[in-house]
Amino acid sequence: MFNFSAGPAVLPKEVLQKAQSEFLNYEQSGMSVMEMSHRSKLYDAIIKDCEQHLRDLMNIPDNYHVLFLQGGASLQFSMIPLNLAQGKKALYVNTGAWAKKAIQAAKQVPGVEVEVIASSEDQNFTYVPEVSIDQVDQNAAYVHITTNETIGGVTYDKLPDCGKVPIVADMSSNILANNFKVEDFGVIYAGAQKNLGPSGVTLVIIRDDLLNKEPIFAPMLDFALQAKNRSLYNTPPTYAIYIMKLVLEWVKEQGGVPAMIQQDQAKAKLLYDTIDQSKLFSNPVAKKNRSITNIPFVTGDEALDQLFNEQALAQGFQNLKGHRSVGGMRASLYNAFPYEGVEALVTFMKAFEVENGGEK
Ligand SMILES: *Cc1c(COP(=O)(O)O)cnc(C)c1O
Repeated sequence: MFNFSAGPAVLPKEVLQKAQSEFLNYEQSGMSVMEMSHRSKLYDAIIKDCEQHLRDLMNIPDNYHVLFLQGGASLQFSMIPLNLAQGKKALYVNTGAWAKKAIQAAKQVPGVEVEVIASSEDQNFTYVPEVSIDQVDQNAAYVHITTNETIGGVTYDKLPDCGKVPIVADMSSNILANNFKVEDFGVIYAGAQKNLGPSGVTLVIIRDDLLNKEPIFAPMLDFALQAKNRSLYNTPPTYAIYIMKLVLEWVKEQGGVPAMIQQDQAKAKLLYDTIDQSKLFSNPVAKKNRSITNIPFVTGDEALDQLFNEQALAQGFQNLKGHRSVGGMRASLYNAFPYEGVEALVTFMKAFEVENGGEK
């Protein structure tokens, strides 16, 4: 079977096998990683290695902190305005479902003025809106973007010019699958369960000068405190961090981020070409903003979409059903998803089209 889940998503089989082989007895300790103190020497090496792998793979400069937090990307929707935008304006670009949630959460943080400076809602979130520098109040705390809209399948082809205002990015669904440079952002955050590992850990990469100067009322929500304690202020999600470390080692073995992008592009091309050549299937996203990690498509007929999903599932294509808010189909092709899975899918799509042919 092939797992097209948008998240939690497919993990490299080699990673799961390694975890299995170390499950009961990690490095002759007689313990599972799950049973280990987060303050032990053995665990300290795991969390440090995990951070170092990320620094290597993403070329993270020394003036950025790498944090392993909890609460998912969704808690960052609140933590970021809380820590960075007290008494200031926070600017947002609205590109779809996840950007909307980030905007909604920021509006609920006291002492923060939220402004949406650009939106693609006019065309049902099928493109990334232009942001010109004169739309960016240079006194704002940040400009928030969603580098990849997981539900809409929309991605930034280039970053907006925001002048000296830092860009804060929700990179949950295309981290380690894009060419962006960390130094072009103030903050990058990502729930791990798309492209980094299992759920339970959230990665935050934050530039040193953006850490809050004043304590936050809740210690767990305080970036500066978390950074000072190297994510060990309390018990971190130890096992999830361990699996992330294994995933990052796997990415390194594959040839790093450039190799991942190359493979992701090849997978995405095969599926987009099939959609574009088909008379039945379509994808509504502007070509330059098409995601390589999440690819939604429809037949234009809900009953036919349902039939497709039923037959696909019966053939072993799992989690292809589109997000409950939009319907249709969605193939999530994260780094660990194999090329053969896309080959099998397009073969199935072509056969389905012959049987159920029709016009777009
Ligand atoms: C999945 C996802 C989220 C939500 O992540 P949680 O870890 O479940 O809070 C937020 N933003 C994007 C872009 C996502 O893909």
